Formats: sequence, structure tokens, C-alpha cells
Amino acid sequence: ASGAHVPVLVIGTGYGGSVAALRLAQAGVDVQMIEMGMAWDTPGSDGKIFANTTSPDYRSYWLRTRTKQPLSNFLGFPIDKDVPLYTGILDAEEMGGIIVYQGRGVGGGSLVNGGMAVTPKRENFGAILPSVDADEMYGTYYPRANAGLGVGTVDPTWFESADCYQYARVGRKQAQRSGFPFVFVPDVYDWDYMEQEAAGTVPKSALAGEILYGNNYGKKSLQKTYLAQAAATGKVTISPLHKVTSVSPAAAGGYTVVIDQLNTTGGTTATKTVTADRVFFAAGSVGTSKLLVKLKATGALPSLNSEIGQGWGDNGNVMCGRANHLWDPTGALQASIPCGGIDNWTAGGAFAEVAPLPTGIETYASFYLSITKNPNRAQFSWNATTNSVDLNWQTAWKQPAIDMAKSIFDKINAKEGTIYRTDLFGTYKIWGDHLTYHPLGGAVLNKATDNYGRLQGYSGLYVIDGSLIPGNTSVNPFVTITALAERNIETIIATDL
Ligand code: FAD
Repeated sequence: ASGAHVPVLVIGTGYGGSVAALRLAQAGVDVQMIEMGMAWDTPGSDGKIFANTTSPDYRSYWLRTRTKQPLSNFLGFPIDKDVPLYTGILDAEEMGGIIVYQGRGVGGGSLVNGGMAVTPKRENFGAILPSVDADEMYGTYYPRANAGLGVGTVDPTWFESADCYQYARVGRKQAQRSGFPFVFVPDVYDWDYMEQEAAGTVPKSALAGEILYGNNYGKKSLQKTYLAQAAATGKVTISPLHKVTSVSPAAAGGYTVVIDQLNTTGGTTATKTVTADRVFFAAGSVGTSKLLVKLKATGALPSLNSEIGQGWGDNGNVMCGRANHLWDPTGALQASIPCGGIDNWTAGGAFAEVAPLPTGIETYASFYLSITKNPNRAQFSWNATTNSVDLNWQTAWKQPAIDMAKSIFDKINAKEGTIYRTDLFGTYKIWGDHLTYHPLGGAVLNKATDNYGRLQGYSGLYVIDGSLIPGNTSVNPFVTITALAERNIETIIATDL
């Protein structure tokens, strides 16, 4: 309620925010979480909470009147369609030279992502978070994060015969024929549930193609893990459809937080003011960066340092498809949850997820999301003319990512005598270089904050999400975001409370 005083306010309910809320609550602290998206706990008229990937509807996009599908075309035909304006689950946020996809709702990105839960190879960790002790991360915090998230791996025996992983077996065979290691990729999907889906004994989710717009059954999103545990403490309250617009020092100590309550078409129905002793920024890389850049520039938090908004990267994301010969069908039924990848990080700077193309028909296509060592970094800045935050990323900055992905797929194409698909991102366009699923950075650890996420210049303000990580994790990011949050909150609870 407006005028309330809370000990801790957390902005956002994704990975960083959920870890902070759970551990603070377990330490006896009352936590108020603010989430701009919806609760996603109520079925729609079709009896399901989430819409299917193949039939986006009002639930699918954050405040758009037309879908903005990552794969915009099929067989060259545009597939986007009109949808009613609604506070839907997937935000395709257009930031100048890049579309940044993000989850909106209680659970943040865990609602929309593929659940791929990858711990980076230890030899790569020094480049990911140079100021963090790798022994502590690999000895304590990565295991804690993996346990908290419920990470598991496909049963390798079942994998060999499952129809829904024909596409992954083709991906493995072709990778290995070209001399690349194929690795199983862990996931938070309930693998036993998937086997039951394949056996036809439970309602289908991964095998019904659900992913981008939410997953109705098998995926262990944060709502089922960290946030469920947090709720069980009785000390955590979540306010969905509430958006933080300002944080500034309060005269009597602590911080004044201004919050807009939203309706489902994005309008503001009330503006509330709360005082908090401590505030955790967990709005995601883009959300936290945009807030901090604005608050510094507009005088609400003028003492934030000049690292705010810097060091943003796209985790080197780039997508592509390949057209296989008729003797390499990839399957009409494809599990929407990937389970394997091609590791050419050390030699070529690319780690490629063998991704599904769950269209329901045989396409003979192989599809990949590559994570690459793209060195380009962008910065957020305040635009006083438009009263908004800009990001200076340019589409051409994806070229290193394309070159690194080619280190894998040019070789596979040469070996197999195959070609790239040119019909998935437009007409005659091979590379999906216009987007990222993995925004990282903008309030980098040990630069914008101290080495535990305390914002420089203001005691009691913390960053605890993907914005701490300077642009790349060498693999999918959420396990690292979660593990870093576990590390930071442990120190904050021990020394600041
Ligand atoms: P988020 O999870 O983004 O949470 C931030 C939350 O804050 C959001 O709920 C947002 O609505 C809320 N918020 C923002 N601003 C405000 C505000 N002003 N007031 C109130 N609330 C606010 N990663 C993997 O590791 N594996 C995968 O398989 C994978 N697949 C992905 C697939 C897709 C389609 C997408 C979009 C992402 C994927 N990711 C994947 C990335 C992963 O989901 C993100 O890296 C992760 O969610 C980031 O965590 P976070 O805690 O930094 O922020």
C-alpha cells in the first residue's frame, strides 16, 4: 500500500530477485517484491495459463498489437500476426540496433526461456567474472544454484530412441562427422515428465511445442522453485502489474520508491510511494540498466558512478538454420526443450545449441542458437530529448558472432554437402543477427558496484541480476546469474543486515 515502510524491496522477480528474496526471507527479513508483469497463475478461456508457440494470442506479447516472432518467416513467408494489446509474457524490446527478448511476469525470464541450465567450463570462468573467486563459485555457489533450480539432464538411453529428439541426434551425428564435440545440455525441464509426455500418459507441454510464450506443465520455472520456497517462508509478498519508476534517498533514511500500478493494457491506474531501508535492483540487464541510467541522469541518484550503463553485451547470440538432405529428416515431432550443443568455444569462439523447430511437420531443417565470444560491448545513455534510455548497439556488431558461428556450420555444410536455410529470418537471409535472448551487463560487478553488488555511492542499494555480468557467459546465462546472486546475497546478509 502507498505510504508503507518495508525493510527490503526487490525490483523484479527473475533469477536474481528470486534468490535475494528467498535467502533474505530465510534470514528472517520481510521482503516486498515488485513485478511489472502479470502473476501467470490463472487459466485463460482455453483452460490454459500459457499460449502455444504456434498460436500466439493476447497472452503472448508485452504491450504489442502485432507479434514479433524471433523466427519471423517460414518458407520465406512472414508469420507475424495481429494480437490484442495486453501485458503478455514475452517482451520483444526494440533497442535501436537489436531486439532484446525478455520474460515479463512473476518468474521473469524463467517463464519464457528454454530452461537450458549450463554451468560454464571452469577454464572460461576467469573471462566471465574476473573479480570473482572461481574456487568458491565451483565449490559452493554453482552447486547451490543447480540444486535450487532443479537442474537435470536427459536420460541418455531414452534420448537414443525418443522420436522427439531425432533433430538432436541428427545434430550430434553431423557435429561429430565434422570433428566437433557434442555435449548434453542440462535443463530445468522435468525429464521424467517429458518421458511421460512421449508415452502419452500426461498432458503435453514440451512435446506440444510450448516454450516462448510459457510452459503449462513440465518446466520448473522460478514459480515452482525459488519463488515457491520463498512464498513458503511467509515473509515474501509479490505485487504483480506494478512497475518501479523511481528510487531516491528518503529524508528520514532509506529510499523512497515510486511505483506505478498497471492495468492489462499498460495504463497506470495508481501511483504509490513506499519507503524501503534497502532496495535490490533485479529488473534484468535491460530493466536495471535503464532504471539506473535514468535515475543518475535525472538527479534521483546523482552519485552513482560513471560505470552505470556500461559493459552491455548480447552473449554473442546469433541464430541460423541448415537444410538437410532427404536422408536426414529432423522429425515432425520435436521437443521444444533442447538437450544438446556443439562445443567449439576454445577453437572457434562458438557454443551452438541444437535447437528445435517445432512446426509439427517434417522440415528437414536443423536450427541452432549460437552463443559466441563476440567482443563488442554497448552502453546505455539518457536521451533528454525523448526522455528515455538509448542503447548504442549496432546490428553490424554481430559480424564477429556470425564469423564464429560459421567456424562450426561452414564446416558441417562442407562435410555434408548442405546449405544454410535462407527462409527463416526474411527472404534470402541466413543469419538471425537482429536479436538477443541473453542481455548481460549495464551495472557491472566491481565497477558500477563493489565486488558483491553494492551500488557505489549509496549504502543500502544493490544490483543482483544479469546486469552485473559484463556481456558474456560462454554458455546460456541463468545458472551463472543465479550462482552469482547466491554468492552475493550470502555476503550481504552476513555483513550488512
Ligand atoms: P529477468 O529474469 O529478466 O527478470 C527481471 C524481471 O524484472 C522481469 O520479470 C521484469 O518484468 C521485471 N522488471 C523489469 N523492470 C521492472 C520495473 N521497473 N519494475 C518492476 N519489475 C520490473 N537463459 C538460459 O540460461 N537458458 C536458456 O535456455 C534461456 N533461454 C531463453 C529463451 C528466451 C526466449 C529468452 C527471452 C531468454 C532466455 N534465456 C535463457 C535468458 C534468461 O532467461 C535470462 O538471462 C534471465 O532471465 C535473466 O535473469 P535476471 O534475473 O537478470 O532478470
